[in-house]
Amino acid sequence: MKIFVNELENYVDKEITFSGFVDAVRDKKWVMFVILRDSTGKVQMTLEKSEESNSSMLELMKNTTVESTIRVTGKVVSNEAVKLGGLEIIPTNIEVTSEAEALPFDFNNLDGVNIDTRMDYRWLDMRNPRNTLIRQVESCLTEGMREYLYKNHFTEIHSPKLIGTASESGSEVFEVKYFDREAYLAQSPQFYKQMALAGGLDRVFEVGPVFRAENSNTNRHATEFTGFDLEFAHIDSYEDVMSLEEDLLIAGLSKVKDVYGEKIKEVFGCEVIVPKKPFPRIKLGDLYKELHDRYNFEIPTEDIGDMNAEAEKLTFKLAQELYQSEFMFVVDYAATKRPFYHMRDKDGKLQGYDLIWRGVEITSGAQREHRYEELVKNAKEKGLTKDVEFYLQFFKYGCPPHGGFGIGLDRMTMLLLGLSGIKETQFLFRGPNRLNP
Ligand code: ATP
Repeated sequence: MKIFVNELENYVDKEITFSGFVDAVRDKKWVMFVILRDSTGKVQMTLEKSEESNSSMLELMKNTTVESTIRVTGKVVSNEAVKLGGLEIIPTNIEVTSEAEALPFDFNNLDGVNIDTRMDYRWLDMRNPRNTLIRQVESCLTEGMREYLYKNHFTEIHSPKLIGTASESGSEVFEVKYFDREAYLAQSPQFYKQMALAGGLDRVFEVGPVFRAENSNTNRHATEFTGFDLEFAHIDSYEDVMSLEEDLLIAGLSKVKDVYGEKIKEVFGCEVIVPKKPFPRIKLGDLYKELHDRYNFEIPTEDIGDMNAEAEKLTFKLAQELYQSEFMFVVDYAATKRPFYHMRDKDGKLQGYDLIWRGVEITSGAQREHRYEELVKNAKEKGLTKDVEFYLQFFKYGCPPHGGFGIGLDRMTMLLLGLSGIKETQFLFRGPNRLNP
């Protein structure tokens, strides 16, 4: 099995085989330094020119292009003079495992490289340590949140993304040809999370692709993104849902801070702030008033009962000013602006929320309507009948009160690292004008 750069210190004075990319070759008068790289860091390989036995390896490395991959057998030696971790590899054999052509751009210096060129060659773009770190941080965040859920009786599920009806809320769905009929790509795992609860699993979550046929070119919308979705049963109100989300985010962000906090500061210049419970909550009406009084903001008529991008931005400002918090729960949205499966109380008030972090919505959550008759009524009100017929059946044979939420994982990573857009955040961006690579 491969030994990683960050494990080499365990092999000092031992004979090992190391594989990685050729990051740089420094051909000096008396010695050749070859910098090798893997996903965990860089290490120096040293070839003394005075050593007769090195001649064929020196010749080989002279003709090996940077970004080729090699397999080196040799000894790990401790050497304080080596800036890269105080270690070097003294090789006895080198094998080139893949040769690299001249690169289309220097991925170590992406200033001035067009973002679309970067996307076209994403696998090269990703070799930039900053971009490697984005993937590692997102993985770590997911790990932290997963760990929390596993410890708290959640079961991970995988629901289908090919679906038979264009269901749910207003979001646009993609149609796909499915043999001699039409199918659709799931715009959220919502219905299936709830079905799993009706199936007797008390707590479920899913980390998976979500498709939205939105022709929007903002810095935070993609046509395919990763949803971190969960749903859990036997709750008393949507307060329970918000409370669980607080714990989940604290767990995820604590993990990122522990593992990558220093590195993030160094590379992205930003602090990972682990929030404290409870996050502030504000009613939409009070929020409008605050935003008006403090920042002279007026919600446009078409957005009344909801938020827009500007309101989200200002909500962050307000959360910082009033509560020194980066997070803010906004509650009391208009039922007309929310999906039919969000519960309303006896006065028709919506039992759901959005969570705003650093000026952007990262989550919608709610207590769901689990009472069959109410659900049918709400669906009818929204003009949804045939398409949700199958879903309504889940609630006919006993289904516990429940709630849940969906976090946009890509958006969260973008905000966590202070990145300029979802395009550079996602592993492979999907937008109205991009389907490749
Ligand atoms: P928005 O109002 O920002 O378009 P939404 O209300 O459509 O979002 P939901 O359907 O509630 O979002 O989805 C849950 C979460 O998924 C959102 O809070 C957000 O973090 C993320 N999300 C939604 N749409 C997108 C998208 N097109 N690209 C990336 N993430 C998204």
